[in-house]
Amino acid sequence: MAQNIVEKILAAHKVSGELTPGSELAIRIDQTLTQDATGTMAYLQFESMGLDQIKADLALSYVDHNTIQVGFENADDHAYLKSVAERYGVVYSRPGNGICHQLNLERFGKPGATLLGSDSHTPSGGGIGMLAVGAGGIDVAVAMGGGPFFLTSPKVTLINLSGALKPGVSAKDVILKVLSIYGTNGNVGRVIEYGGSGLASLGVPARATITNMGAELGVTTSVFPSDETTLQFLKAQGREADWKELISDEGAQYDQVLDIDMSQLEPLAACPHSPGNIATIASLAGKQVNQVLIGSCTNSSYRDLKTVALILTGKKVHPDVEVGIAPGSRQVVEMLAAEGLLTALVSAGVRILENTCGFCIGNHMSPGSGAVSLRTSNRNFEGRSGTMSAQAYLVSPESAAAAAITGVFTDARTLDNLPEAVTEPELFSIDDSMFLFKETAGKGVPGTKIVRGPNIGDVPAGTPLLKQIDGIAVIKVGDNITTDHIMPAGARLKFRSNIPRYAECVFENVDADFYDNASANRDNGLHNIIVAGLSYGQGSSREHAAMCPMYLGVKAVIAKSIERIHCANLINFGIVPFIFDDIQAYESIERGDKLLIDDLLKAVEGNGKTVVCNITKGVTFTVTTGLSDRQKIILLNGGLLAAVGAGVL
Ligand code: SF4
Repeated sequence: MAQNIVEKILAAHKVSGELTPGSELAIRIDQTLTQDATGTMAYLQFESMGLDQIKADLALSYVDHNTIQVGFENADDHAYLKSVAERYGVVYSRPGNGICHQLNLERFGKPGATLLGSDSHTPSGGGIGMLAVGAGGIDVAVAMGGGPFFLTSPKVTLINLSGALKPGVSAKDVILKVLSIYGTNGNVGRVIEYGGSGLASLGVPARATITNMGAELGVTTSVFPSDETTLQFLKAQGREADWKELISDEGAQYDQVLDIDMSQLEPLAACPHSPGNIATIASLAGKQVNQVLIGSCTNSSYRDLKTVALILTGKKVHPDVEVGIAPGSRQVVEMLAAEGLLTALVSAGVRILENTCGFCIGNHMSPGSGAVSLRTSNRNFEGRSGTMSAQAYLVSPESAAAAAITGVFTDARTLDNLPEAVTEPELFSIDDSMFLFKETAGKGVPGTKIVRGPNIGDVPAGTPLLKQIDGIAVIKVGDNITTDHIMPAGARLKFRSNIPRYAECVFENVDADFYDNASANRDNGLHNIIVAGLSYGQGSSREHAAMCPMYLGVKAVIAKSIERIHCANLINFGIVPFIFDDIQAYESIERGDKLLIDDLLKAVEGNGKTVVCNITKGVTFTVTTGLSDRQKIILLNGGLLAAVGAGVL
């Protein structure tokens, strides 16, 4: 039977289950990826599983999030990650080497392979033809140990790209167009496959920009074919041997097809505070800009930053705009430097930032109060920049560079002397010396001392499922609550390895009393319940958004809908994810209401349906949790770690 690319990769990696959309499927994982903000917990969980060495083909530990090193915490984390990588056989990417997704694309990505990463933008690997999926750290820990990854067998959407992008319009505008069509909700359980006659005009980094921001759609992942363009990229990276052709069969079937003529696209922006809130740059033209930040894993490739440098060559940044550039990798920095383009950027007045996540996650260069910040990154959630009142817009490198010069939103197509399109080089600058332990990858060095500074805490243990939840609606939130709302990043990132301390920050920008209320309920023997609207837990894959609430005694989330990665994380940490059968019931609940679920065990073991009694209001309503048999076992045991420890998984 004719297969599409997604079916080909899933079939080649299937361990158990069915390739029928909606059914649970287990697949073998070839490569794993962690970053430092989620990695410490992932490796602590790997250690607590008692595994002796890495069993995946390749495991990579990137340090790119917490490199600011104010205080001892970040350095403690790095020392732990380095030692655990050496001990168990993980390749360790030192801080300063670059951003995980850019580096993985450059040096390790392989067409047709599977990649599981403890970062929600792992789908960047789809740009090189990988089936690359983001997940919680504990799922990645299991995959590192050779266990399969469980996912819902997806529906596949084909997006046919035709035509070619005009000068001043680039890959970011393609994915912003897709976001304007599909939005950020309702795409769970779907994979996007790209095809069409326009593919040849998109290099691998451009394709990765598109698959990277597929995460904002809420799809499982996105993937491009592996073709002549992919081969040229791998050749230029000295990795021709990693190439294989991967295209869909003639007559392959898709659940949905969308056609986009790239020649008709114009520069777009995602407006505050959602990547799905799309407007044309033309409609914003003339609006004042205070800050321009270029880079992040979405747009920090050689092609993107050379384009910016050429636009800025011989110009000065506008006196009212601060401009920063965070390159994606050392490779990119070295190549810009070799071509004199770093000099051009510095001469223009650009601040050259470290090649890390930095500004993207509010860890650096937070904008001023109420400032308008143009960013080439992938998320503009309220407060993610580190400034709650800032107005963050997501744009292409071309649009960002244009605003850097003019000080206002500017359609790059209106600039004088817009440079010609930058093409990918025939040979990249290659130096893998900041990847440590490549020689012992997969084997490790037994006897290596694991370094645990005071910032390295323990993984909190779950407890077996309760018979009933005697609960309090400890918080009621609306639609589109992100994991940034639940667990803030930025200045709080350094607490990621210390759960009791990080738990003090849960929902701190949403409800300043949450920690006090939740911990008081827990200490009084009551169970906390989170009540939420649509698309709860969208955004980052951080499992801390489940782990810290678990630590504070949260036993259930009742929502109108819950996003894929977060739902898996809740289950992995023993929190039952319930969905309202009738969303009108959401309206009847207020914060502080007493909610009783008296047959929890039966609901989880049975068909997932149960009655919630709102004792305060004197009403009842029903909720459902659609669990697979494996997920039931996890919840009954109090989480994945407990289930693995009990030997039942
Ligand atoms: S989205 Fe931002 S924080 Fe996350 S990996 Fe990319 S650059 Fe880093």
